[in-house]
Amino acid sequence: MTKQGRVFSGARPTGRQHLGNYLGAIKNYVALQDNYECVYCIVDVHALTTMDTTLELKQNTYDMALDWLAAGIRPEESIVFIQSHVPQVMELHTYLSMVTPIGKLTDLPTFKDKVRENPNNVNYGLVGYPVLMAADILLYATDFVPVGVDQAPHLEFTREVVRSFNYRYGAPVLKEPQMKTTSIPKVLGIDGVQKMSKSLNNHIELASTAEETTQRVMQMVTDTARIRRSDPGNPDVCNVFSLHKIFSSQDEIDMINVECRRAGIGCVDCKKILAKNLNAHLEPFRSRRNELDQNPAYIWDTLADGAKRATVLAEETMTAVRDAIGLP
Ligand code: SF4
Repeated sequence: MTKQGRVFSGARPTGRQHLGNYLGAIKNYVALQDNYECVYCIVDVHALTTMDTTLELKQNTYDMALDWLAAGIRPEESIVFIQSHVPQVMELHTYLSMVTPIGKLTDLPTFKDKVRENPNNVNYGLVGYPVLMAADILLYATDFVPVGVDQAPHLEFTREVVRSFNYRYGAPVLKEPQMKTTSIPKVLGIDGVQKMSKSLNNHIELASTAEETTQRVMQMVTDTARIRRSDPGNPDVCNVFSLHKIFSSQDEIDMINVECRRAGIGCVDCKKILAKNLNAHLEPFRSRRNELDQNPAYIWDTLADGAKRATVLAEETMTAVRDAIGLP
């Protein structure tokens, strides 16, 4: 089947992936492969901007790649690689930085957020983060970038960089990527309040055993107004129900939607149904992950092969870029 263009997406090496990562990105990555030529990058250099220590960087990269492949990213079709293995991205970053006003970077809301989160480490890399991100996208002549609505300003920034670069050097060398807006569900953690995140320890890891997963589900906060078993609940404000809508059958969803409101089902039973369905959904992932994990060399070889294929694309872009700039 003819593909409809090239998609690029990158994610920081955050190690073993959780349900929020899966529903927010990986599931979409897997689906996009059917219609697009996909380039998926583990952006280890980006991670350095806010890291105190790099001790876990290698293991986190391995775990993330393992989870991606186990979830259904097909490396024989898609390019899966590590950002720093294609150093041309650093070169393009430097050239793009020459057409990027510093005020534009410091005005970005994401920069201000990062400064708030890392007040003691406002480094040069942090300011230039969006330029490196633009380089990631443009190096591979990307047609589409899957983004949630909140990330749209970053892609718009990349598009402006393309226009500035092409105008400055008088040639349409860089391709303006289009936004591929996806509705990314906001997956709450088991606390039912904050976004699912490893650092908040409110996550459900994809690679957990069935028992561990059930335990986490049983710890989930439900409709906080429902105190006793005999109190009617409201599924519309319950995070357990949000996950039922993704992992349970329509009959079960309909039943819970009715029974919860008239206290016909208790939260313990409701969670047991969710745990059963979630475990059934994750079972193929877990067995594939265990299988792949028997052979770590395969994961590293896959990433090396991805880097080789990404380098071919990168060099095509860089040859045109160096020419357009007029580098001697
Ligand atoms: Fe939530 Fe289910 Fe309890 Fe209703 S019965 S409050 S949907 S966990």
